[in-house]
Amino acid sequence: MKTAILSVGTELLFGQIVNTNAVFLSKELNNMGFDVMYHHTVGDNPGRLASMITSTIEDVDMILVTGGLGPTQDDLTKEVACNVFEDELIINEKILDQISEYFVRTGRNMTENNAKQALVPSRATVFHNDAGTAPGFALEKDGKYIICMPGPPREMTHMFEISVKPFLEKMSDGFMRYKLLRLYGIGESLLETKLLDIIDGQTDPTVATYAKEGECQLRIASKRSSAEEADKAVQDMVDVISERVGEYIFSYDNEELVDVVGRMLLEKKLTIASAESCTGGLFAAALTDIPGISQTFKAGFVTYSNEAKVRELGVNEETLAKYGAVSEETAKEMVEGLAKVTGCDVCVSVTGIAGPGGGTEEKPVGLVYIGFKYGDKCFVTKKLGAGASRKWIRNHTLLGILDIVRRNI
Ligand code: ATP
Ligand code: MG
Repeated sequence: MKTAILSVGTELLFGQIVNTNAVFLSKELNNMGFDVMYHHTVGDNPGRLASMITSTIEDVDMILVTGGLGPTQDDLTKEVACNVFEDELIINEKILDQISEYFVRTGRNMTENNAKQALVPSRATVFHNDAGTAPGFALEKDGKYIICMPGPPREMTHMFEISVKPFLEKMSDGFMRYKLLRLYGIGESLLETKLLDIIDGQTDPTVATYAKEGECQLRIASKRSSAEEADKAVQDMVDVISERVGEYIFSYDNEELVDVVGRMLLEKKLTIASAESCTGGLFAAALTDIPGISQTFKAGFVTYSNEAKVRELGVNEETLAKYGAVSEETAKEMVEGLAKVTGCDVCVSVTGIAGPGGGTEEKPVGLVYIGFKYGDKCFVTKKLGAGASRKWIRNHTLLGILDIVRRNI
């Protein structure tokens, strides 16, 4: 079944609020097996709203509208939807009672325009609003549907869960299931090449690749007549993909890399410490975003200057003089010193040139050394990020450190 999402509100067009309703509805509809063909946004203007509904319904089976159902002058959705779907508004006594009850319950006075909210199209299936006063409704004409819900996200999501979803489930022609796999360390084009035969011949499950900042994502989706079948089709495809590119996959469940690493450290009961130069504490900040991480994360040094590297970590002054602060040798001494000072199971160090200045031919901007130590395993990885911005280099370095920890503990 083809659907469209229509968001009503001038605030959305001004960029004053983010359209979270459309995101929520898209996810829900896709999960239920509906095809979402359009996202439209229109201001609080009856003429444009009417023509948007009229033109969109030509092309889809159902429009889901949010916003403009309230009691004020600029709330026009109900009237317009009713006109386009050739119905008339009538007072719904049950809703009128519910609205008055709501005002008694919340200790407020009911005004005349609140009473207007009990007006609904005569043929509509009405959805009660447990979280507010404006009711929602579904209206049909010639086999096409319009579903109107209030704008406030709390009211809309509540109404969707309680009333709209069951209503939609009755008319869904399948069950959609999907998984989002996240990968680090492989570019989108190489990923596509490795999966080309799968991606080329796909009908169901579908496999799509996305490049995100510093990572790739794979979305595997299936639509079947039962949820169990769809789940199985997705899982079978995940298994095939895992055989080919499993080493790069850090999450099969849309988790952030830092959360995966945090969980692994906690599960393995390992302690960790960091000594950062060019990332200035990004690694420590990212890990300490995770609640309960104090069980594993013990210390984070920001040793930005040479003096700090010597004083805090015991890096040799000769090493710094001979090889420089950004070198394999310094990264190694940083991580070894860190292990001595903290006694942690896992230690990471990082030193690099984040730019935009400070690069040379021999040591260009983007050159980064990451030191890693866990038990007897101790090594330094060199990374290059030519042409990238300071922000990109620092963020990528953070992901690089996290991935090294993920692969080596
Ligand atoms: P009310 O009874 O509150 O007037 P309404 O159904 O008339 O509800 P609107 O007036 O269009 O809805 O929007 C009310 C508020 O809901 C907006 O100020 C905004 O904060 C939020 N809102 C509306 N539409 C969206 C949207 N698409 N995404 C996120 N928030 C939204
Ligand atoms: Mg309103």
